[in-house]
Amino acid sequence: MISLKKYLESQQAASGATVELSGGDLLPAVVDAYGSALLEMGHASLDACPGMGDELKRHLGEFKSGLSTGMSSAALSATDTGVKEQLRGWGRGTAKHYQQKACEVKEMLLMMARTAESVSARDQRCAGQMTEVTERLKVIASLEDLTEIRASIEKSASELKSSIDRMTAEGKAVLDQLKEQVTSYQTELEEAEELASRDALTGLSSRLYVEGQIEKRMGAGAPFCLAIVDIDRFKKVNDDHGHVTGDDLLKQFSTELRSACRATDVIGRWGGDEFILLFDCGLAEAEGQSERLRKWICGNYAVRGKSGEVKLRVDASIGLAAHAAGEEMKELLARADAKMYEEKAAGRQKVA
Ligand code: GH3
Ligand code: MG
Repeated sequence: MISLKKYLESQQAASGATVELSGGDLLPAVVDAYGSALLEMGHASLDACPGMGDELKRHLGEFKSGLSTGMSSAALSATDTGVKEQLRGWGRGTAKHYQQKACEVKEMLLMMARTAESVSARDQRCAGQMTEVTERLKVIASLEDLTEIRASIEKSASELKSSIDRMTAEGKAVLDQLKEQVTSYQTELEEAEELASRDALTGLSSRLYVEGQIEKRMGAGAPFCLAIVDIDRFKKVNDDHGHVTGDDLLKQFSTELRSACRATDVIGRWGGDEFILLFDCGLAEAEGQSERLRKWICGNYAVRGKSGEVKLRVDASIGLAAHAAGEEMKELLARADAKMYEEKAAGRQKVA
């Protein structure tokens, strides 16, 4: 480029007139070479900085197409100045672009350092190792040599990875241990719930469980009836044959109760020789059910005595009450209890 301009200037100085780019063998070849050089420069700029080379390539292309052997030296000079300006502008822009990229990389390094710092603050066990890595990352951010930066980053990244792997493994072990503990607490809780919901002697539902079931039914609002069943003169069994026989009778009586009831009925031991039943139906149906029940559970039992089997005649009194809307559990129980005592008294009179 410069040699072409110099050539024209020297021609002009020699002839004392403005030299036109025309004719001759050398000049078209030189102009052509100059245009090709501009095109090559455009391609190279695009390769060097893909983000910014496009514009320079386009401008150089325009200059190239503007070149002709018939150009005035003034037009050539303007082209020459234009090309120089474009190249200078592109050089400055490219330098700025790469400086900006370097700043972004440094920012990212500092961000990594801050993240690693916060991780180490959360996990004290790895704090030492992490602090070392974060310090190194900060140093890398101030380095200028790319090869050195890359080597340091690779080293820091692999240390960071091993720290995080160790933390993950330790965290997993702690988590597994916690899971195991939770499972064992859950099992214990379920066992405790099962224990609390069962009567230990008879295996029927416990008073606590039945109370919960009554509350549940009161909340649901559907009709249900409650029956209290009490063995008549049970104390005498204990007195005559001992507690072991009494226990055996309670167990056998409970088995009979269970087999006489439907699967949906709730059957519980309220305490001593007193049992409680819940029927999910209205009073008429429950009355029929409790009569069938009475026939089933009253009668002869063969229980374990002190010296062999003892045959006993067992009777029970039943008090039935249907839950009335808005009635409290205490009131419902009191009504069923009163009915049961009425029946017991009537039975005694009959016996008497
Ligand atoms: P009633 O005809 O009025 O129902 O009188 P009862 O003798 O059946 O009832 P009472 O309330 O007078 O006595 C119940 C007895 O049951 C008193 C208590 O010692 C006994 N008992 C309570 N729990 C158990 C138990 O788990 N096993 C045994 N064997 N006896 C028990
Ligand atoms: Mg009794």
